[in-house]
Amino acid sequence: MTVDPFARWHLTPVINASGTMTGIGASRVPDEVRATVDRILASFVDMDELQSRAGTIIARVTGAEAGCVASCSAAAMTQTVAACLTGANLAKIEAIPTVAGERRVLLPMGHMVNYGAPVDQAIRLAGAEVVPVGTAAACETWHLANALAEGAAAAMYVVSHHTVRENELPMDVFIGLCRDHDVPVIVDMASEYDLTGPIALGASAAIYSGHKFLSGVTSGIVAGTSDLIRATYLQHRGIGRTMKAGKESVVGAMAALEIWENRDHGAARRAEEARAALWMRELADIPGVALSLHADWTGNPITRVRIAITPQIAGFHAWELAGQLAARTPRIVVRDDLMERQELYLDPCNLTDEEAATVAAAIREEAERFRAQGDGCRESWSDTKRAREAAILAWSGKADAS
Ligand SMILES: *Cc1c(COP(=O)(O)O)cnc(C)c1O
Repeated sequence: MTVDPFARWHLTPVINASGTMTGIGASRVPDEVRATVDRILASFVDMDELQSRAGTIIARVTGAEAGCVASCSAAAMTQTVAACLTGANLAKIEAIPTVAGERRVLLPMGHMVNYGAPVDQAIRLAGAEVVPVGTAAACETWHLANALAEGAAAAMYVVSHHTVRENELPMDVFIGLCRDHDVPVIVDMASEYDLTGPIALGASAAIYSGHKFLSGVTSGIVAGTSDLIRATYLQHRGIGRTMKAGKESVVGAMAALEIWENRDHGAARRAEEARAALWMRELADIPGVALSLHADWTGNPITRVRIAITPQIAGFHAWELAGQLAARTPRIVVRDDLMERQELYLDPCNLTDEEAATVAAAIREEAERFRAQGDGCRESWSDTKRAREAAILAWSGKADAS
């Protein structure tokens, strides 16, 4: 008998208008993936064989020599860095995070971001020393060349909306310089659709989350050179054990990749565009709210709706609207990383048409409520920031299931 976890454990349903956020469960996993995972969960399988088969699919899809699956992208980052420190030496693998020899891992300072946890911590966990390259808002070739000249075990390059976008080294320039110094480049592509770009440019490894746009089970997909992938996979005999990918993760990633290969991407795009169009229509005439279509920052084929709020006219701040939406049942989660600038974004990729209509109606309702009650523009950004930080610490291991 199937248990409905929402009813059984008093969980609040969530409508996801934010994209692929792991904090609310990343993606809606399609039936085909779930059925395949279900099949393996009831069986035994040789994990080495399974991972090797996964590598075949990853190689095919990414153009890399080989691949393997980690428990998530963060784990994949730690394990590929460890692989650059140990190679396929099992004694060194068991010694991590203590390791002799070159431990420097270069990371542009503008890429030293937080995807839910800090990028640099994923590197340090392997026992590596993070060497920031460039300054907070600029990285030039001379910064990288100088750091490379002092030696490095690896360099990490992050592609993400979280990073600084201007005045950074383009990926081809970064990889080219590192290759000139024989330093392997690991590219964090956790949330990116481009499965082939980094490998084509000569990256030694590219990392993707299986549970984000691929809509698989929580997993980290690593594509790369045969030697680096072998050394990465072998980390499961060391620190990889603390971040183990089970058979469900590996099979979930394999199924998701094959579905992605055969997916009608045009049809998916059109469905997403229809949802964005619905929002543009339904939210068009709210006072103090300006709408526009916004292409993804890093070039992913997603067009979101940007909601730019003029508080003096709208009667509320962006963070107040986001707060009201999140307090509803179902909870409505919008993209709020730029709310400090009075901007919210609606992402069409992870919700049904019906949910998209619910989101539009809810935003309209909340905006009207603020206007009618005049209780907006009360909470400052500082208040919000303090409250959000307090909420992190308020998590309790024994929730009141009221
Ligand atoms: C989501 C994300 C990660 C972490 O991915 P997980 O698979 O959830 O561990 C790392 N880097 C970037 C840029 C991300 O967007």
